[in-house]
Amino acid sequence: MSKYIFITGGVISSLGKGIASASIGKILESRGLKVALMKLDPYINVDPGTMNPYQHGEVYVTEDGSETDLDLGHYERFTNTVSSRFSNITTGQVYNSVISRERKGDYLGKTIQVIPHITDAIKERIRECALVSKADIVIVEIGGTVGDIESLPFLEACRQFRLDMGYDNVLYIHLTLVPYIKAAGEVKTKPTQHSVGTLREIGIVPDVLICRTEEPLTDGVKEKISLFCNVKKEAVIESPDKQTIYQIPLVFKEQILDEIILSHFKLICKSSELKDWEKGVVNRVLNPKHKVTIAVIGKYIELQDAYKSIYEALTHGGIHNNAKVEIKKIDSERLEKGSIEKMLEGVSGILVPGGFGYRGIEGKVRAIQMARQNKIPFLGICLGMQCAVIEFARHVCGLAAANSTEFKQTRYPVISLLEEQKGHKNLGGTMRLGAYPCKIKKGSLAFKVYDRGMIHERHRHRYEFNNQYKKIFENKGMIFSGIYPQKGLVEIIELKNHPYFIAVQFHPEFKSKPDKAHPLFRDFIKAGLSFKV
Ligand code: GLN
Repeated sequence: MSKYIFITGGVISSLGKGIASASIGKILESRGLKVALMKLDPYINVDPGTMNPYQHGEVYVTEDGSETDLDLGHYERFTNTVSSRFSNITTGQVYNSVISRERKGDYLGKTIQVIPHITDAIKERIRECALVSKADIVIVEIGGTVGDIESLPFLEACRQFRLDMGYDNVLYIHLTLVPYIKAAGEVKTKPTQHSVGTLREIGIVPDVLICRTEEPLTDGVKEKISLFCNVKKEAVIESPDKQTIYQIPLVFKEQILDEIILSHFKLICKSSELKDWEKGVVNRVLNPKHKVTIAVIGKYIELQDAYKSIYEALTHGGIHNNAKVEIKKIDSERLEKGSIEKMLEGVSGILVPGGFGYRGIEGKVRAIQMARQNKIPFLGICLGMQCAVIEFARHVCGLAAANSTEFKQTRYPVISLLEEQKGHKNLGGTMRLGAYPCKIKKGSLAFKVYDRGMIHERHRHRYEFNNQYKKIFENKGMIFSGIYPQKGLVEIIELKNHPYFIAVQFHPEFKSKPDKAHPLFRDFIKAGLSFKV
C-alpha cells in the first residue's frame, strides 16, 4: 500500500513548493523507494493548455501528451519519475467528471455537494495515481496558498485522507516563509504561526514545516516555531536561499528530512548519501570552468517561468560541459528593427523557443538569418524550427512571401496546418501532443548528437513543415534529418557547412536532466564554447 505526503504552502506564493516537492522525491528515491509526484491545481481550467504563459508560465507536456503544470518539470528533472495524465489534477477536471457522472444519472436521487462528491472525486484521483504508479510514496503538492478560497476542496480532501488511510500512512508538510525584517534586525515567525493556524482550522495539523528564509534560523527561533505551531523541533526544517535549486535536496538531507519522513511512516530503508548529485550536479554548477553566453529569443522573456524547461536544459548543457551558461533573454519584437548585430553582440549561441501567434516572429526570423549566415550555433525548438524554415524559404530558396499559415495566408505556405488538425473545433487539448517516434538519418548531425537512429520526443503544436517544399529546400542544402515515419512529418532540420544549426519540431527541453543533459542541449553548449565571438 502506498503512503502519502501532502505538501501545502503558506504566507505567499512562489516559495518554491514544486522544488521542495521534487527535492523530497529525490531524497526518498535515493533511499531506494519508488516515488510518484502529483500536483493539484485549484484553477477551473481543465488544463493550462489554453492559458497565456503570462498567466501560467510554461505548459509542461508529459510523455502521454497531457498539458500540465510546470512543477511536473521539476519532478521529472529531480527524480526518475515519468509524469503522466495521472500526475496533475485541476478543479476543472474534477468538476467536469462529477458533472458528467451526474448527467449520466450515477448519483440518482442525490444532491451533489462539494463534500463528499467533489472531495471523493479528488481522493479517487490521488488513489488512482498511487495505483497506476505502484509507488511506495505518493507526494501530492497542493497549488495555491493556504487561505485561498479555491484550494479549500483540495485541502479538505487531504484532511479526509488521513482519516481514510490511517495516521501512519499520511504525512503533512507545510512550506512557509520566515521573513527577515531589516528594521527589527530579526526573523519573524508570526506569518508562519498564522498560516499553520489557518491549516489547523481546516483540520490539517502539519507534521513538518519547511521554512523559507534568507537568514539562518537560530535554535531559539526553531524552538519558538515548534512550540507555537505544534511541530517537533527537529521537524522544523530551514530552507535558505541557495545559488542553485539543485542544492535543495542536499539542504533537506543535511537536516535528515528523509529520516523524519521514514520514521513517521515506520519504514526502514537503505541509507544514502547523494554523493553523485553533489559531485555531478551541484559542484559543477557552483564551480564552472568555462562561460558561454546564449541568447534566447522569445516573446515572453520578462517572465522567468515562461521558458522554464528551456532555461533548465541550457543549464544542464552547461553542467555537462563544465560551463556557466549566461542566458541573454531577448525580446523578439525588439529584434524586428535596428542593428541586430549590436543586440546579439557577444553571444555564442542562439536559441529560438516555441510559441504561438505572429507577434515577434519577424525578429526571430532575423536572428535565425544572422545565426545561419554568421555560423553562430543555433537551436530552434518547435516554433523556432518553423521560423528557421520560413527564413530559409525567404532568403535561400527565393520564396520572399513564405510564411506559416498560422500567421498569414501566403502563396508559399511552407508551414501549414496538419490535415488531422483541420477537423478540430475545440482549442483545448487538441494539438499534436506527447511523445512520437522520430527516425534519424544516418550521417546527419542529429545522428551524431543522439548517437542512434530512433528517438522519442514530446510535441505540442498544430502546424508542420509543408512537405510540398521538401525538394526545393533539399536542393538548396537543407537536410531533413528526422522524420516521423508513420506520416512522413518533418521533425528535425539542419544545415550543411555550419558548425551547429539544428531545429526540431518537438520539445527536447522536457526530457533534459541536470545529471543527464539532453544531447541537443549538451552539444549546443559545446558548439557555443568553441564559437569564437
Ligand atoms: N505555434 C506553432 C504550432 O502550433 C508552434 C507551437 C510551439 O512552438 N509549441 O505549430
